[in-house]
Amino acid sequence: MIWNPLSTNITTQVYYLATNKHCYLCNAPSKNKICEYCSPYLSINDTHCQRCSRPTKVHLILCGHCQKDRRKQQITKIVAPLKYDDIVSHLIKSIKFQQQTYFLHILIPYLCSALQKHYATTDWPDEIIPIPNHPERIKQRGFCQTNLIAKFIQRYLKRDIKINTRSLKKTLNTPAQHTLNKKMREKSQKNAYTVTNKIGKHVALIDDVITTGSTTDACALELFRHGVEKIDVWTLARTP
Ligand SMILES: [Zn+2]
Ligand SMILES: [Zn+2]
Repeated sequence: MIWNPLSTNITTQVYYLATNKHCYLCNAPSKNKICEYCSPYLSINDTHCQRCSRPTKVHLILCGHCQKDRRKQQITKIVAPLKYDDIVSHLIKSIKFQQQTYFLHILIPYLCSALQKHYATTDWPDEIIPIPNHPERIKQRGFCQTNLIAKFIQRYLKRDIKINTRSLKKTLNTPAQHTLNKKMREKSQKNAYTVTNKIGKHVALIDDVITTGSTTDACALELFRHGVEKIDVWTLARTP
C-alpha cells in the first residue's frame, strides 16, 4: 500500500470536516462548494449559438432562431454557461422557490468564468440590471432572485460593476412564466416593464434562466425605447 498519498488524503478530508468545508450537493468533505464527484453532473453549455447561447449539437455562429430574427435592435449577446436540465434546473428551482440561496455558490463561479472569458475581448457594460420582479411577487417569494444573483456576481467577479435596480420596474404583475407557453408568455410580458430612471448606454440584464426569451425581449424593447444602445444578457442557464 502507498501510505503517503493516502495519509495526505485523509488529513485533507479531516481538515475539510473540521473547517466545515463540504460539497453543497452531497455533503462530502470538499474544498469547493461542489465536489469533484458531483461537478461532472452539471450540464455545461459548451456548444451553442454565439449570439443567444441556445444549446446546439455543434458550434454555430447563429442558430436558426437568430438567423430568422429581423428586428432592428437586438440583444447583442447572451452569456449562459450551463444548460437548464437535471441538476441545474433542480438547483435554480431550489434557489427560487425554497430560498436555498447557498446553491448560488455553486452556479455563480460558472457564470463569472464565462463572463471573464467573453469580456476579455470586448467592453464590459456600464451597469448591470437585474430583471425586476413585481413587488407582489417579491412579497410572496421573500426576495428578488435576480438582485441576489447580481450581488453574487459583483462579489465573485471582484469588479467595480454598478448594479442598477432603480431604472427598470415591473409594473404589471404577470402570471408565473413557467405556467405559460411561448405565445402566452409573449402576450403577458408585453408592456409589463417600464423605465423609470436614467439608464446607461451599454447594459447587461441579469436573469436566473432563459427559456423562450420573452422576458428579456420585453425588457430589451423597453430599454431600447429609452435610448439604451447595447444590451447583453447574463444568465445562469439556457434551455435548448
Ligand atoms: Zn458532491
Ligand atoms: Zn441564437
